[in-house]
Amino acid sequence: MKAHDGMYIGGEWRAAAGTDTIAVVNPADEQVIAHVPAGIAEDVDAAVFAAHEAFPAWAATPPAERAARIAALRDVLVARKDEIAETVTAELGAPLQFSQMVHAGVPILVAGSYAELAASYAFEEKVGNSTVYAEPVGVVGAITPWNYPLHQIVAKVAPALAAGCTVVLKPAEDTPLTAQLFAEAVHEAGLPAGVFNLVTGLGTVAGQALAAHPGVDLVSFTGSTAVGKQIGATAGAAVKRVALELGGKSANVILPSADLAKAVGVGIANVMGNSGQTCSAWTRMLVHTSQYDEAVALAAEAAAKYGDRIGPLVNAKQHTRVRGYIEKGVAEGARLVAGGPEAPREQGYFVSPTVFADVTPEMTIAQEEIFGPVVSIIRYEDEDDALRIANGTVYGLAGAVWAADEAEAVAFARRMDTGQVDINGGRFNPLAPFGGYKQSGVGRELGAHGLSEYLQTKSLQF
Ligand code: NAP
Ligand code: MG
Repeated sequence: MKAHDGMYIGGEWRAAAGTDTIAVVNPADEQVIAHVPAGIAEDVDAAVFAAHEAFPAWAATPPAERAARIAALRDVLVARKDEIAETVTAELGAPLQFSQMVHAGVPILVAGSYAELAASYAFEEKVGNSTVYAEPVGVVGAITPWNYPLHQIVAKVAPALAAGCTVVLKPAEDTPLTAQLFAEAVHEAGLPAGVFNLVTGLGTVAGQALAAHPGVDLVSFTGSTAVGKQIGATAGAAVKRVALELGGKSANVILPSADLAKAVGVGIANVMGNSGQTCSAWTRMLVHTSQYDEAVALAAEAAAKYGDRIGPLVNAKQHTRVRGYIEKGVAEGARLVAGGPEAPREQGYFVSPTVFADVTPEMTIAQEEIFGPVVSIIRYEDEDDALRIANGTVYGLAGAVWAADEAEAVAFARRMDTGQVDINGGRFNPLAPFGGYKQSGVGRELGAHGLSEYLQTKSLQF
């Protein structure tokens, strides 16, 4: 695979400050496909400096012109859609069709939504005798994970640019090639030099330097709760804005009146897509005791049908970690009805689509984020019991409710401690705010709410 051996800083590919590199591995066959530079504090310094220099002019650029640049960026992503999909498949392992539809398709939608929002957002409003201006926060440090490599980048960079902020991105070490492709797209779209900058590298080196950099005004992080807590603490100590998009353990609540087969089928597909590496995946399926056995049979059948069609996990560490969770589920007394901890292939970081029955709410597999193709089916006695179980984790990112009557599902969803809920399989909406209650995070991404994260208000009284 094609890779740059430098950093994209100040509108050009510059030599990295250090000599270390990161090997990029294809998780489907464990072969090294490229090397990228491992950034150090000096690279981060240079990138933050470039973003700082570019900020005043970009902040002063009329929103309509910022919108035009973001639209141009969207157009480049459309033109390079196949290349994006192939790159994500090579470094993440997602099946090509999923990469085309989701990994390339969704960022195009999101970039398009911010081209429109930049042009239509009310950056100025009258409140009584005041005029309130929404002004960009400044230099954004964006730290992204590997699970949706381009989406996670666009969900931060597009609203930041729409707001008038400039950005330094540190992408995940496992998926830097997608990030380099994005930097090329930014360049092709004609964004002014320094408005977007890329430093590839390790989280503990380049990521930490970016999160702690005094020249960064806002840190936007997506990833594990453990790292998110550290970044939140660092930002808090510096009185710096921070947005954290962390883990989840979302509940798929199937009420007794629901279409059981549909709810189970969509629920399994929701987790197996991207091999379970989705923070908002509905990894706990909550089923009424009267329908429990039927749901378990349907889920086992649906998971078995996936068989070979799911991609591998991203790396060897996740492969070990996820299979460790499956072993823990067995050890704690849950019943395997599909899949298991054995690696289904000799090569590649594959895990079989796995379903556990007889999972109780306090088991490790029902409490912790596994980030693999594993669904836990939990029994409930009545609606209050279902609600207690649904709300009974430290997380609150997403969820689903199924019922014959939409109003019944909505009433239940309103009692859930979570940031977004799909009613009877409701479609993904790129304009709806996405983010967590409780330890799933701070702040919201996507749509107008995602844009406002990058703005601060100034009130002038007359
Ligand atoms: P992670 O370490 O939190 O990675 C997220 C991003 O933060 C990466 O760019 C990472 O760089 C960087 N990072 C790591 N340590 C850092 C530090 N001390 N300071 C600043 N940046 C730092 O997550 P992971 O290790 O890839 O995955 C572990 C678990 O996190 C998963 O099993 C899953 O449960 C959860 N996760 C959640 C999401 C989500 O969408 N919410 C996404 C991915 C993972 P490196 O790539 O070099 O580590
Ligand atoms: Mg990590």
